[in-house]
Amino acid sequence: MKNIIIDFDGVIYDSIKRFIDIYNNEYLDKVDYKTCKTWNFKECKKIQDRQEIFKIFDRDDFYFEDEKYFIKDSIRAVNYLSQKSNVTIATCGTNKSNFNKQSLCEKVFPNCNFIGITNSSSFEIGKDAIFGDYIIDDHIKNLETNKSRNKLLFEPNKMDWNSSWVGEVIKTWTEFVGIIEFEEDDV
Ligand SMILES: [Mg+2]
Repeated sequence: MKNIIIDFDGVIYDSIKRFIDIYNNEYLDKVDYKTCKTWNFKECKKIQDRQEIFKIFDRDDFYFEDEKYFIKDSIRAVNYLSQKSNVTIATCGTNKSNFNKQSLCEKVFPNCNFIGITNSSSFEIGKDAIFGDYIIDDHIKNLETNKSRNKLLFEPNKMDWNSSWVGEVIKTWTEFVGIIEFEEDDV
């Protein structure tokens, strides 16, 4: 059975879209989430410091079961893969946000394992302690030094923080499922 490590924010859940919706509402701004390409939400001009970013991620309603905030096909694809593979959702965040993510994952992805890596001061902690046959993540910091056999960058649109990546890039969930299936057929 294959071990697949899947990131949550930006791979399964469209955290940028959710963040911008809350930001526009709270700060009375009109940022288009599709133009948001920086790791620290520099596009959100009314945000003064990082703590305000964490406050938004820590809201109890940040992660919730609304399909419009999930990356296209992710719910179906992750549940499909978890039928025949050992799927672990591995995510970094604050205690609070990881707790909320875990609650959501238990509901939406009942066959998956969940690992929340807590980090209260920075988003940039790595996931080197967790590895498997595949790791898929939307940040190269979690891939570069990871020991997984196959390291895939999930990047539907080019992001500033990944510009130095030379490895494989996945743009859709259909593409990712295809890669897993292909290898299984081959074994
Ligand atoms: Mg991510």
